[in-house]
Amino acid sequence: MAHIGIIGGGISGLTVAWQLHQLGHRVDLYEASERIGGAIRTTISPDGWMAEWGPNTIIESSGRIKKLVRSLDLDHHKIYPGPLAKKRYIVRNGEMVAVPSSLYGIITTPMLSAWAKCHLLAEPFRARNQTLDSETVADFVRRRVGDEFLKWPIDALVGGIYAGDPERLSVRHAFPRLALLEEQHGSLILGQLKGGVRRPPGSDEIPRNKADIFSFDKGLQLLPDTLAQKLGESVHTSLAAERLEQTPDKTRWQIHFSDSRVSSAELDAVIYAGTADGLTGIRMPDKLTELLYPVAEIPHPPVTTLTLGFRREQIAHSLDGFGVLIPGTEGFPILGTLFTSSLFPGRAPDEKHAAVTCFFGGTRQPQIAKMVEGQQIHLALQSLEKLLGLRGSPLYAHRICWPRAIPQYELDFGRFIRLMDQAEQDYPGLYLAGNYRTGISVGDTINAAMDLAVRVHTEIQASKSKRTHT
Ligand SMILES: Cc1cc2nc3c(=O)[nH]c(=O)nc-3n(C[C@H](O)[C@H](O)[C@H](O)COP(=O)(O)OP(=O)(O)OC[C@H]3O[C@@H](n4cnc5c(N)ncnc54)[C@H](O)[C@@H]3O)c2cc1C
Repeated sequence: MAHIGIIGGGISGLTVAWQLHQLGHRVDLYEASERIGGAIRTTISPDGWMAEWGPNTIIESSGRIKKLVRSLDLDHHKIYPGPLAKKRYIVRNGEMVAVPSSLYGIITTPMLSAWAKCHLLAEPFRARNQTLDSETVADFVRRRVGDEFLKWPIDALVGGIYAGDPERLSVRHAFPRLALLEEQHGSLILGQLKGGVRRPPGSDEIPRNKADIFSFDKGLQLLPDTLAQKLGESVHTSLAAERLEQTPDKTRWQIHFSDSRVSSAELDAVIYAGTADGLTGIRMPDKLTELLYPVAEIPHPPVTTLTLGFRREQIAHSLDGFGVLIPGTEGFPILGTLFTSSLFPGRAPDEKHAAVTCFFGGTRQPQIAKMVEGQQIHLALQSLEKLLGLRGSPLYAHRICWPRAIPQYELDFGRFIRLMDQAEQDYPGLYLAGNYRTGISVGDTINAAMDLAVRVHTEIQASKSKRTHT
């Protein structure tokens, strides 16, 4: 059994800690703030409105995610959206249009012009690009399926997932499966028809188009809360890591803390699962500083989430869907809106009420994310009036601004990956986990954290057996 320190109590840190605990190691997790969960946080008002501060859903993109939820005895709290919420809208020419989910749907949709549809049908005949590593999402989409696709569905989708700009994101890093579809099949359409990206043997990955999304009856915070509860006294909050050093014989690590009353911890391995900018708040050996401080340069635009509650009769639209995403070219002040109470039960007090969640800011309009609440509510109401036929004022509002919301995997993201790989190689026993490295969705961070736990366990076993044989 090894003693492993984990810095950061978001979903990455908690998952890796729980997995290592289950593999028989002693773990201690240190979280700088007074609460665990990082970006995952749920508020329930006394009159029955539920608002998520960060993510609203998790995509069940692997068997590992199912295994994690089961290991925490949370299966009976898991909830999936009803069939109505399968419908997704985007805005075209100021109107909400359902996103087609079949080939027939694509042919008949008013979301795309006849020219864009013909251009799409020719996609399998277009040549591959040999330089995907230096291609933006926008260039990739323009090259394969045309400008109209980029301007409407893809721009809306990139705003919804990354709050980002397709002209800046790297296709290789931000949408690796798209890049692999072209590499493996030469075409996105043929690749999809042939079953998508090839999975390595033994992989438990569930293809995105077949993966369900879920939450919990009490909101997503149930997941970090339960992880922390199971980890018990191994979780230490209000304790920021301030200094990291190796022992003189370089076999172990020491973490020193912000609270001088807490003595430093000596550990067999340290996993940094904090935020990218949190790295610069930790003093570390000079060479390690050179490798890791630049990681804080990964852009993280601000995003504000605003959950609003209404009487059902105030909204003319049937809210029959997951929500609506808005391309930049449509000129709205919001990135999109989730139909929160259509997605899951328990988000509004009862069926006579409805809740929606609007997202502001991102790379597209960072200044709007920073406006005061009154201005944002005004902008949201204007947009919802146009899109959903909303009338009147909200009965409930919950707003939170994330000044550094989501890491952007832009064209130079490969540089940051190389620095992090080098740091782990030069400093054995130090590992890096989190949304700044292995994917931004909760699903991606859970998958990566579970994989990292297995890697740490295997490396500790190997170095132990090497020491016994020498
Ligand atoms: C507004 C918003 C909406 C989102 N929507 C979705 C969605 O619908 N679906 C989805 O899948 N994903 C969504 N995401 C993304 C997802 O929530 C995050 O990528 C994921 O939760 C990140 O988890 P993490 O553990 O890697 O990092 P974080 O949650 O950022 O946790 C890092 C933790 O480390 C701590 N820390 C930092 N430095 C130190 C230090 N020196 N010492 C100790 N602790 C430290 C921080 O306090 C923090 O608690 C959303 C994110 C945001 C902001």
